[in-house]
Amino acid sequence: MNILFFGPNGSGKGTQGAIIKKKYNIPHIETGVIFRDNIARGTELGKKAKDYIDRGELVPDSITIPMILNRLKEEDCRNGWLLDGFPRNLNQAKELHKALGEEGMNVDIVIEIVLDRQIAKNRIMGRRLCVNDNNHPNNIYIDAIKPDGDRCRICGGELKTRSDDQDEAAIDKRHDIYYDDKEGTMAAINYFKELSKNNNGVPKIVEIDGRPGVKEVTEELLSKLG
Ligand code: AMP
Repeated sequence: MNILFFGPNGSGKGTQGAIIKKKYNIPHIETGVIFRDNIARGTELGKKAKDYIDRGELVPDSITIPMILNRLKEEDCRNGWLLDGFPRNLNQAKELHKALGEEGMNVDIVIEIVLDRQIAKNRIMGRRLCVNDNNHPNNIYIDAIKPDGDRCRICGGELKTRSDDQDEAAIDKRHDIYYDDKEGTMAAINYFKELSKNNNGVPKIVEIDGRPGVKEVTEELLSKLG
């Protein structure tokens, strides 16, 4: 199963992604995680990507597209993948579709978590990352997932903020890219919606209301995936 997973920063995508990964037993490939991992390890790729990420800008397509297309060729992707954070603009969407077509593959499902821009922004600024597991949800502004004091509510681990999470200008920039329906992520989503219309519902489009709590969003997601 090949799945694209869309949602603005702050929509709880990482948390829901972990659930989808489990349901289909496919790797959860998060572009942002790959970049941050490379930055932490001080690789050439990380050095190239860091300044863009800190400014909230997209890393250039010339770096990102080959990185992801190569990742999808790895052994663990044989039975499918869940792609999260890519494509992030119209060009990446077209290039992905083209590259898959050349391999006789396609996207099976497109999931979109729909969330208002202002709500998404508040959620990002309250987000705390558990040093033990990225997917332990902690947010100081969301009652259901409030940390346990200053520790992770799941495992008691130390909590950190992402440097690009506390920078309002960077958040606005990321959202400018996401909500841009001319060239940005919305344009990428619409590209696949249009494909679906012209291709008998392939990929299947699954829209989820991101406003309720984590549990409710998961329930809607799982019931729509069937
Ligand atoms: P995320 O963890 O998804 O919020 O991504 C963090 C940052 O990584 C983004 O703000 C971008 O700078 C960069 N990034 C992630 N995905 C992409 C992508 N598909 N294309 C270009 N840059 C990306």
